[in-house]
Amino acid sequence: MVRTSYEYTQTLMGTTVSLTLLEPNKAAAHAVFETIKMLEDKLTVNRSLSEVMAINLAAGQYPVTVSHSVFSLIEQAQKVSLHFNSCFNFAIGPLVKLWKIGFQDYQVPSNKLIKQQLLLTDPKNIVLNAKTHSVFLKKSGMEIDLGAIAKGYIADVVKLILQQYQVYQGIINLGGNVLTLGKSSLNEDGYWHVGLRKPFSTKNKLSGIIKVINKSVVTSGIYERFFIQNSHLYHHIFNPKTGYPLDNELESVTIISDSSLEGDIYSTVFYGWGLDKSREYLQKHQNLSAIFLLKNKTIILINTDNFIFQQLDTQYTISTDYN
Ligand code: AMP
Ligand code: MG
Repeated sequence: MVRTSYEYTQTLMGTTVSLTLLEPNKAAAHAVFETIKMLEDKLTVNRSLSEVMAINLAAGQYPVTVSHSVFSLIEQAQKVSLHFNSCFNFAIGPLVKLWKIGFQDYQVPSNKLIKQQLLLTDPKNIVLNAKTHSVFLKKSGMEIDLGAIAKGYIADVVKLILQQYQVYQGIINLGGNVLTLGKSSLNEDGYWHVGLRKPFSTKNKLSGIIKVINKSVVTSGIYERFFIQNSHLYHHIFNPKTGYPLDNELESVTIISDSSLEGDIYSTVFYGWGLDKSREYLQKHQNLSAIFLLKNKTIILINTDNFIFQQLDTQYTISTDYN
């Protein structure tokens, strides 16, 4: 049993990214952080320049050719947006930019402005050309936002980089998106222990610990980025039909899966679907596991073969009725 670990951290993507390895490997850590930087530079919409911003700035004017990796991520985002019958919509950018939730100048916009921006969020108006790897936003003012899937995609790439360096055990935390490789020899049980935050806890308290081996653990929650105005909570996952934050019974959705991109997609899709529809889907897809935290302080665990949940906060009641 190895009891020592080696932690490497950097501030990237607006969060602290930490990589924990069981053996020291500065070269692998360096490669990981450089790769994350490179992908962030391509995918971000929080700066004036990136491949995605080049597409957004050319909206209504001309198609923009992007790199293979960005094109393939956009292709997947469009598939999910068009064919999943969910609230997932990668053309949501104009609304994200209007509300600015998570930034200092956030606001509750007027109904009129929300309606105007909604007209610019139809994913059918994004034209992809697989031959030239180009992306064209048909209307001026349209914006792609990959915030719901970028970290998941990046986590999967990090895994490949680590494997290139013959690193097969470790854990990477991209701020809400955690990916574990292999078994952990830090814990007697061989599991990696991933904390699940207690929603809205100011002191970083945990609701529980999710124990996994070689899995991704991704959480979408209304407590990640939000503000309160006139006693109403506004959070960062929007209903693309109304232009307002989604309103349902959920505080958070955590997905335990092999691929982190898949986990990131489903965490947002399930948040939009709500518990009942997500549960039906999960019953047919046993390879995906989920933990739902409800506003009524219930924790629902589904498809528990892939993880162990250790409850820490007694304010919540666990229900496995749904299994
Ligand atoms: P996540 O935490 O993975 O659920 O992603 C939330 C982020 O996705 C937000 O901060 C926005 O950048 C973006 N987003 C917000 N609403 C949606 C939506 N309905 N569909 C897709 N992406 C969204
Ligand atoms: Mg997501």
